[in-house]
Amino acid sequence: MKKTVQLYEGKAKKVYATEDENLCIVSYKDDATAFNGLKKGTIEGKGAVNNVVSNHLMRMLEQNGIPTHLVEELNDRETLVKKVSIVPLEVIIRNIAAGSLSKRLGLPEGEKLKKTVLEYCYKDDDLGDPLVNEYHIAALGIADDEELATIAAYSFKINDLLSAYLKDAGIELIDYKIEFGRTADGTIILADEISPDTCRFWDSKTGKKLDKDRFRRDLGGVEDAYDEIRKRLLGK
Ligand code: 5GP
Repeated sequence: MKKTVQLYEGKAKKVYATEDENLCIVSYKDDATAFNGLKKGTIEGKGAVNNVVSNHLMRMLEQNGIPTHLVEELNDRETLVKKVSIVPLEVIIRNIAAGSLSKRLGLPEGEKLKKTVLEYCYKDDDLGDPLVNEYHIAALGIADDEELATIAAYSFKINDLLSAYLKDAGIELIDYKIEFGRTADGTIILADEISPDTCRFWDSKTGKKLDKDRFRRDLGGVEDAYDEIRKRLLGK
């Protein structure tokens, strides 16, 4: 399948149309941004790690009953995916307090939450991706109740599957952000990516951060952390 025109360029990926109107090609970049684009940089090799890690995890989820956009990995940076229209929500699942939740609620980072937390943010860069709830989502017509129920059910199932899978690789899944899309017939499927850019991964034994927080917080060893995740999950 060949790329035709570029449809979109985001902060971390480009999306191309193909000769098949139902399929797109995603190309992962090494560009890194944080804090809504205020911090910019490059993480050498990030695009390749995120491509293969995301595909690996989506394949595992697909085998366990979660419909995803993954069709075929084309090369180290590019993947053929089903074309979707993205539901403009960032779905965030949290097992352990960290990041903006810790700030907002005054919880120490690393504290286990008594219940898994699901949050929605409305994807809008100009507004800074504000936190919204089911009522806002219905009021804005972002998704209907049935779609949102599907999205929430998939998100919790993904949490169970991913947490168990990563635990075997010595990785604790602290929290993550996922996005869903609608195919041409309106089916909700998992889209975007699952990678060290979009998840907090901590080493189970040492608590070492193996994710984009190393870039966000200037902790150093960013490339090594991404590579460590690739090695633990893909063994190469
Ligand atoms: P927080 O709200 O604590 O900043 O992020 C919670 C989780 O969602 C983290 O795993 C973080 O990586 C992910 N996340 C939230 N918003 C974004 C975003 O705009 N871009 C990316 N790459 N990840 C996000």
